[in-house]
Amino acid sequence: MRVLFLSPHTDDVELGAGGTLAKFMAAGHDIFWLVFSTPRISLPDGKPGDTLLHEFTNAANTLGLKEEQYRIYDFPVRRVHEHRQEVLEELVAVRKDFEPELVIGPSLHDFHQDHQVIANEMLRAFKNSASIISYELPWNHVKFDAQLFIRLTQKEIERKIELLKNYRSQIELGRPYFKEDFIVGWARMRGVQIHTEFAEAYEVHRWII
Ligand SMILES: [Zn+2]
Repeated sequence: MRVLFLSPHTDDVELGAGGTLAKFMAAGHDIFWLVFSTPRISLPDGKPGDTLLHEFTNAANTLGLKEEQYRIYDFPVRRVHEHRQEVLEELVAVRKDFEPELVIGPSLHDFHQDHQVIANEMLRAFKNSASIISYELPWNHVKFDAQLFIRLTQKEIERKIELLKNYRSQIELGRPYFKEDFIVGWARMRGVQIHTEFAEAYEVHRWII
């Protein structure tokens, strides 16, 4: 299956769908991953501006992704809405080149301004051509409709934690959602809902079989 992952910023897919990404990589699915912005302002004092870019490429290397399997844009953080049409045009170009069967991106219920833009343009670009689901980032939502669950093994959760450990700048900033016990507890909570040990939850916009 050709699967397109959409990350408004470096780290969003790793947090919301990192276990699924590890599972899909191991299953041999054809993965393509777009990152729209590298938030230079979300760094500890004194860190070089390209820190998150390096942390993202380290995460991609951890997964064994090749350079042609991801693309990093440089839209300005919190101002991606000023480039909405360019974002759409990029997505339409990827739709034609990669022809994804499944698109995984942020939720329409995500209140981060950049995430909202990517969620909207994702639906605009792919609503007639692909299944579309949204990952969960609980700290950004006021509601989330957990409609689809992807079961994860212990090994896949360990891969997710390994991926997140590449974001040393965010761990240094003490971001609570990078803490291992939170990641494990969150996956256990979603797992409990479907009688399995670990899971990630998604909203479904389109499901084409
Ligand atoms: Zn983000």
